[in-house]
Amino acid sequence: MTAPAMSMSNTYDVVVIGGGPAGATAATLLAQHGLHVALFERAQFPRFHVGESLLPAVLPIFDRLGCHEAIRAAGFLVKPGGSFYDDYEGRGRSTFMFQRNAVHPAFAYNVLRAPFDDLLLQHATSAGVAVYRQHSVRHPRITSEYATVEVQTPQGTTQTVQARVLVDASGRSALLGGAVGKRAPLPDLGKVAIFAHFQGMQRDPEVPDGNIRIHLVQDGWIWWIPLADGMDSVGCVLHANVVKERGGSVDTLFESVLATSPRLTAGLAQAQRVTPVHTTANFSYRVLPVVGDRYLAIGDAAGFVDPIFSSGVFIAMRSAELAAAAVVQAFRRQDFRAKAFQPYATSLQRGFPPFLALMRRFYEPAFLDLFLTPDPTRHLYQAVLWVLSGAAFDQQPFWFQCRLKMFFAAIRLRQAIRWTTGLPTASRWLW
Ligand SMILES: Cc1cc2nc3c(=O)[nH]c(=O)nc-3n(C[C@H](O)[C@H](O)[C@H](O)COP(=O)(O)OP(=O)(O)OC[C@H]3O[C@@H](n4cnc5c(N)ncnc54)[C@H](O)[C@@H]3O)c2cc1C
Repeated sequence: MTAPAMSMSNTYDVVVIGGGPAGATAATLLAQHGLHVALFERAQFPRFHVGESLLPAVLPIFDRLGCHEAIRAAGFLVKPGGSFYDDYEGRGRSTFMFQRNAVHPAFAYNVLRAPFDDLLLQHATSAGVAVYRQHSVRHPRITSEYATVEVQTPQGTTQTVQARVLVDASGRSALLGGAVGKRAPLPDLGKVAIFAHFQGMQRDPEVPDGNIRIHLVQDGWIWWIPLADGMDSVGCVLHANVVKERGGSVDTLFESVLATSPRLTAGLAQAQRVTPVHTTANFSYRVLPVVGDRYLAIGDAAGFVDPIFSSGVFIAMRSAELAAAAVVQAFRRQDFRAKAFQPYATSLQRGFPPFLALMRRFYEPAFLDLFLTPDPTRHLYQAVLWVLSGAAFDQQPFWFQCRLKMFFAAIRLRQAIRWTTGLPTASRWLW
């Protein structure tokens, strides 16, 4: 339910900008701690959003928010693992299954983001957050006493709202990143994603039904995310140069890339596309700084690199939890300076590198040689699973650090073998 415009107050403890997973999580936790919180979301929910495959480490966050039962009841498809197919160099298929450990269970979910995000936002409302949908935030300003924003209502009127703290969860808009800090694209990572939903695809029966499928193809990679009720999400990630060279319409480019995978071609034979073809580009950027006097940026508003390992929603919700803890502490101490929020920024900086290191490696042929034939390096592979499930964001035990280093050393060795035998070694990270 949307809070009626009439009841909008001029002053809150915390204003959260954006009602995606990051904003809804932060707002819920802050309200659960007794703070007076308003969340402004510019879109009308439920709304389409990319990012449907979750990581197991997100499930304990549902528990801590108190919405896990509602998520279960929504009937999202259970995701027990992932399967990688090499449709380019012919290295075959590799399937990994998540493993239960002290951090998370052995599965996640694949979710349609429209109902998933709506459910999280409704949960925020039940926790006492004043949620305003179709309310757009502009002109954030930080003063010594307050953070101030202009809120545009659906009726077109504008109201000034102030808060002790501003949480920027505006996703790729990175509202504060643009206004107070800097939103910088990551050099040379100009990738483009093209995606749509289909009904009636024929899934590979040899892998668990809910597994995300990643197909490596000549021009990039394709995701195939099985959803509930016979729906599937399919998208490809290409470098911007490929898109420029090919030209033509987006729909035609999408079809031609999918046609380079025999399994996608077979899977789509009887299927019907049920959404328009969506695109998004230049989605790799950093926002600096992520904290300042009276503000914190969380989720995509703090940065995003690459969708390959489905880490976005987990990082959005985990960063929201860490930021909420820092804000609660700031209210206890009545200290809203950037320094008070630094522990949050430090946790974010510590959690992200394992993902980044694996994302970079994913685009190297030597990594794929090992990853697509994991048996010889099974004990090292545990470290990779620890990252892929999200566990490494918070916990990087000694065994993990050693094995990840050994795995990377094995990649370098494999790279040397490729080089001496004349096989391609160039990374596809930047191309
Ligand atoms: C191609 C691609 C594929 C991806 N696949 C996956 C995947 O499989 N799994 C995964 O976990 N992640 C994936 N991601 C990442 C995922 O989509 C994001 O990381 C995640 O949605 C971040 O959540 P968020 O809450 O930070 O931002 P968002 O979900 O983007 O929410 C931000 C909200 O802020 C609102 N907003 C923006 N500006 C304003 C404003 N001025 N005023 C009010 N409201 C505003 C927006 O309307 C939006 O609802 C993918 C990303 C890309 C680019």
